[in-house]
Amino acid sequence: MVPNPKMPVLFIGHGSPMNAVEENSFVEGWRRIAKTLPKPKLILCVSAHWVTEGEAATAMAKPKTIHDFYNFPKELYAIRYPAKGSLELAKKIKKIVKDAPVDLDLEWGLDHGSWVPLRVLFPKADIPVVQMSLSANLPPEAHYNIGKELASLRDEGVLIIGSGNCVHNLMRMEWEGEPFEWALQFDHFVRDNLSIGNHQALIDYEKHPQAKLAHPTNEHYLPLLYAMGAAGNDRPAFFNEEMFAASLSMRCAIWKS
Ligand code: ZN
Repeated sequence: MVPNPKMPVLFIGHGSPMNAVEENSFVEGWRRIAKTLPKPKLILCVSAHWVTEGEAATAMAKPKTIHDFYNFPKELYAIRYPAKGSLELAKKIKKIVKDAPVDLDLEWGLDHGSWVPLRVLFPKADIPVVQMSLSANLPPEAHYNIGKELASLRDEGVLIIGSGNCVHNLMRMEWEGEPFEWALQFDHFVRDNLSIGNHQALIDYEKHPQAKLAHPTNEHYLPLLYAMGAAGNDRPAFFNEEMFAASLSMRCAIWKS
């Protein structure tokens, strides 16, 4: 039997839910990278939009599409991403993650952190998806360590995706004008340390002088730590290296062995 190729790891800056229906450079970037991927057997997506008391992984056969946003055009609420779930993968995650107990969840589904990029990356929705939550109680290092524990899934055809944003301050969004200097500084701090594999600096991101502005809350940053952990010593390539509305980084990364 031909062994599975080791799957890459992705970090997707997902930005606005409008990316589900708009044609723009971000969507084009996602589509372009999808063409370079080996076909995964399964997808594990860690989304910024699911924060729970402990860790959880969706375990239902048919995860529902969750429209967890308000005051967007009607067409967005009509979208369904009909990928199947995988109890088998959820159980495996529970088994291999030792840093935190993982609940097998039957209530959640795929929130827009997952399905907005997934329907661009894999429009056929023919690959089962498990979504994993962010445990609210863990320090950054623990999220990174869970990512490391998940890394072995790459050898089993699982595409691990962290979905968040490298800079995410909704309160400071501005539709006109240049990206904020603090936003660029933090985005470049992420880029530079990912490039040289200095993961510790990114685990300790709160020490960065712009950390509070870049991430008033940390849920959009944490998925990056899972992706980094799963990527291990692989070096990243970047795409969609742009800011959106002055205070959101759309930067994405792919790590290949
Ligand atoms: Zn988001």
